[in-house]
Amino acid sequence: MMLANGTVLGFMHGDLPVSLRPASRSWQSGTLLVACGCAMYAVQPLLPLPVMVTVSNGLILLGLTAYCRALYAFYERSPRAWLPLPAILGVLGVFWFSAVQPNTEIRIVLISAAWLVLMGNSVLILKRGARRDDALSRRMLLAIFAGVFLFTALRLLHYVRLGMAADFSIATDASWMNLATPMLGAALPVIGTTAFVLMCSERIRRQWERAASTDYLTDLPNRRTLTQAGVERFKAARAREEGFAIAVIDIDRFKTINDQYGHETGDIALKHVGARLKSAIRDVDLVARTGGEEFVVLFDRVGPEEVEAAAERLRSAVRLHSFTAGTVKISITVSVGVAICRGEDADFNALLRRADEALYAAKSAGRNQVKLAA
Ligand code: GH3
Ligand code: MG
Ligand code: MG
Repeated sequence: MMLANGTVLGFMHGDLPVSLRPASRSWQSGTLLVACGCAMYAVQPLLPLPVMVTVSNGLILLGLTAYCRALYAFYERSPRAWLPLPAILGVLGVFWFSAVQPNTEIRIVLISAAWLVLMGNSVLILKRGARRDDALSRRMLLAIFAGVFLFTALRLLHYVRLGMAADFSIATDASWMNLATPMLGAALPVIGTTAFVLMCSERIRRQWERAASTDYLTDLPNRRTLTQAGVERFKAARAREEGFAIAVIDIDRFKTINDQYGHETGDIALKHVGARLKSAIRDVDLVARTGGEEFVVLFDRVGPEEVEAAAERLRSAVRLHSFTAGTVKISITVSVGVAICRGEDADFNALLRRADEALYAAKSAGRNQVKLAA
């Protein structure tokens, strides 16, 4: 089952976006390595014990290391420098205590310690991942790692308390723990792989959602998001009889910036203006880039007397902070049209139209000013 799982993940690899492929490759290697390590136990009688335990435990430890790498890659973090150590020390220890100075108990303690370090590290990486997403699949995988971690700790206690005779082997049915181990060991490669694939799919969904709702240049909400939020907030303001207003902001003579300094500088200017506008609004308000050099702000819960001052703050936030492209300082101004929601406004679009008319009036009156819709 583990081998099949790892192979299937390998076939699906090409379907994943490039950004997720390093993580999926590592996860696949992890699953195949753990599977091969477990398969070694099936051929135990055919090989000398030191060879068998060193190779099988080495494969499993490398597999657990690959799982850590997969999780680091998933969260775009670079692996810790010590990451290869548990596997290296584990393999050396197992070889020493099987070939040179045979001791089953020390071997089990060593391997369990290496497993615990690697799985504990996976738990920590997934726990830290909470800063990036609250996906259910991430919590699921964290629970699986934590479960196998606890099981490994219990298993270690069990074996140590049992006291192991010289001929003790974990590959016989002498202890119920010997049977439980492969069953729980399969949890990571089998159920864990499902959780990991779901984490990838959840990541892709979020990326698409974000791409569809955000303007790629300024990272502000786009026209689609603005319209959705505008329609909702318009209705809510109506229902609660609260003040609601919008401002449409257009950069003055933007074409000349493009013409004089080039389109690239124009793009940086757009980012600059977006950031300035964002700095000038309250957290409850929303600023979106709705088109070329046009932005819209939604003001929630405002009285008519506050709106003009708020719009004035937007205008001066841009005018007072000229922006530097290389060595040149470019000052940018914006014109702002404001409309305050009234009973006659049938819907959000009607409000937007009035704000557009006010913007047109601000442009005609000489630009760099705020006009309130009639
Ligand atoms: P006005 O004061 O009347 O608004 O003049 P304007 O030059 O700002 O207005 P106009 O509509 O004539 O020109 C808008 C310019 O914005 C034209 C277009 O090339 C530029 N533009 C639109 N989108 C982008 C963009 O994404 N990047 C850059 N660099 N320029 C853009
Ligand atoms: Mg313009
Ligand atoms: Mg324009």
